Amino acid sequence: MKRYKIDWGQELVPPFCPNKHCIHHLEPRIPGWWTRAGYHCTDTFGKVPRFRCRTCGKSFSTQTFRINYWAKRLIDYPEFHQLSSDSMGVRALARHFHCSTGAIQNRTDRLGRQMIALQTYLHQHFHSHEDVCIDGFQSFDVSQYFPNNITLSITRNTRFVHEATHATLRRSGTMTDKQKEKREDLAPFFTFEKDAIKRSFTDILDHLAMQRPPVAGHPLVIITDEKLEYVQSLKGHSLFKDQDQEHLTFHQRISSRAERTYHNPLFASNYIDRELRKDLATHRRETTCHRRSVSKGIMRLWCYIGWHNYHKRFRINNPSMDLSTHAEHAGIPKLPLEWYRDVAYGGRAFLSRFDLTVCDTEAWLKQIPTPLKTGPEYLPRFAWG
Ligand SMILES: [Zn+2]
Repeated sequence: MKRYKIDWGQELVPPFCPNKHCIHHLEPRIPGWWTRAGYHCTDTFGKVPRFRCRTCGKSFSTQTFRINYWAKRLIDYPEFHQLSSDSMGVRALARHFHCSTGAIQNRTDRLGRQMIALQTYLHQHFHSHEDVCIDGFQSFDVSQYFPNNITLSITRNTRFVHEATHATLRRSGTMTDKQKEKREDLAPFFTFEKDAIKRSFTDILDHLAMQRPPVAGHPLVIITDEKLEYVQSLKGHSLFKDQDQEHLTFHQRISSRAERTYHNPLFASNYIDRELRKDLATHRRETTCHRRSVSKGIMRLWCYIGWHNYHKRFRINNPSMDLSTHAEHAGIPKLPLEWYRDVAYGGRAFLSRFDLTVCDTEAWLKQIPTPLKTGPEYLPRFAWG
């Protein structure tokens, strides 16, 4: 016979109404907005208390506000986060945690959404005077006939990753006749986006305009390589067109032939390319691990960005007692960082409570198309909440 244990912890007081259309969603308007509504029994979490909103009538439970909402199995998120950011592939993770590959992908999606929310929330503490390096990381999705370009923005000195956007490109370069033939055979099954790199770079600029706009005394300095698309994109963007004496934007272009040393102004971009190549199983060279789905791959990337920014030590050669992260060096104070870093492993982030950019929203909702895949990616209904 199953025995259930009631968790009457601190979460007995619901923080807000989960209905995004309710007046108590962003901030409860009156203290007595909810009422108790019994409990339901679960194998994983025991007896779960339920509530009802007095205004909209929405019924919910303590689980509604937890990262494991609708989950049927508990996985240790900090351990999962570390292993997935240390180049462990999906199957190896499934073996380690004694679960299915589907469960691993499900937890990756949950954690990826948490990391997007954490990044958006903590940006209010961020220093607004550092130069930003932007460059494209090349890999592929599905097969080598669908190369991609992941454009990343990263601060020049503190190496804090700001944003990542994705573009699928048409395969080019040297190919055998057979390879050219196969590329033509696959072409009718996928529509390549026109000016994908320009759009991808514009998404990054949109994010900078929101999160790192130029301010008086601290112009925005963007460092890129010499790709023509970057110049064209910047010239059409409000960061360039609407600048005045107090809101200046500078663009520094670095030759790809310049030595890739620490003194290269684009060092931060070269550094994050190297880290992604060695730390994410999907981007290792000559491996059976590669992206089968663009949206799932983006969620894995966001898990890694969260790990890199908020958990990874800034420099391994610093004294061993120095556990400071890239986020702290980029200006985020230690106390809120530690608090929200822990909350991200427990409390569920609601899409409706964050003001995300277009590309972050697409990543959250898994709307980025995968070559040769028909139909949308599966997304649980609560991810829209
Ligand atoms: Zn309500």
